[in-house]
Amino acid sequence: MSSSIPAQLVFAPGQSVADIDTSATPGFSGAKADAAPVQAERSARLTELQEMLYASHKAADDTRSVLLVLQGMDAAGKGGIVKHVVGAVNPMGVRYTSFGKPTEEELAHDYLWRIRKALPPAGHIGVFDRSHYEDVLIVRVHNLVAPEVWGARYDEINAFERELVDSGVRLVKVAMFISLDEQKRQLLERLDDPTKYWKYNPGDIDERLEWPKYQEAYQAVLDRTSTDYAPWHVVPCDKRWYSRLAVTELLIQALESLDLSWPAADFDVEAERKRLLDA
Ligand code: AMP
Ligand code: MG
Repeated sequence: MSSSIPAQLVFAPGQSVADIDTSATPGFSGAKADAAPVQAERSARLTELQEMLYASHKAADDTRSVLLVLQGMDAAGKGGIVKHVVGAVNPMGVRYTSFGKPTEEELAHDYLWRIRKALPPAGHIGVFDRSHYEDVLIVRVHNLVAPEVWGARYDEINAFERELVDSGVRLVKVAMFISLDEQKRQLLERLDDPTKYWKYNPGDIDERLEWPKYQEAYQAVLDRTSTDYAPWHVVPCDKRWYSRLAVTELLIQALESLDLSWPAADFDVEAERKRLLDA
């Protein structure tokens, strides 16, 4: 049931951001309670595949990697995906990076400089909590650079991602969408709970007020950078149990497409067994 999720999430040309049903559960017909056992089983599968990816690099020089790109407005649940979905796998094989407001040093370089530095090593799953897409989202919404500068970035990003894919990086791009009501509920929860103050940023409200402009900016991202080699997936995130299951499935699909297997022993297993028993 859950493995039909990925196909339903691929951005379809012409699809409108304004029409996204953020409370939908595409490809999953059950409720929250039905998702729990599925999530447990699929997390175990993800863990197994990730270990196979890591092992293939360690023992068989497989240089491929997977890069999960998470984009979404504040409180869309990016942190929850990192904690619950990525958190289910062995941290040894994960390279996590969050991208905030660029530092002075980063600003002195091309916008892809910090992105290139954070790419996953061979055999790893890279996780981008925000990404180079901020350079055509917040940057576009607030005119942080001239329109011709951000305007040229869509093609630059496509060329960059082509390069990544050609070098063996399997990209999993996830655009996370919540409704304004759900965002308000989530942000209020942060204000109501002292253990969540650390997640609250007064600037989130300023960004929230720009939602129409963000909607346009997200539409342009989806229209212009969803390619056959690195398609976008549109994930409804009002129901967090669903978005977690969805991203789990997207990662499983990416890893399964690598056709991984456990590396064969590069030693004589029987001879080693005998040596060990005698040692
Ligand atoms: P958070 O993800 O909650 O830690 O917030 C990070 C903030 O940094 C968000 O408001 C992002 O939009 C912002 N940010 C990320 N990348 C850039 C960028 N390239 N230029 C300007 N702001 C950025
Ligand atoms: Mg935030």
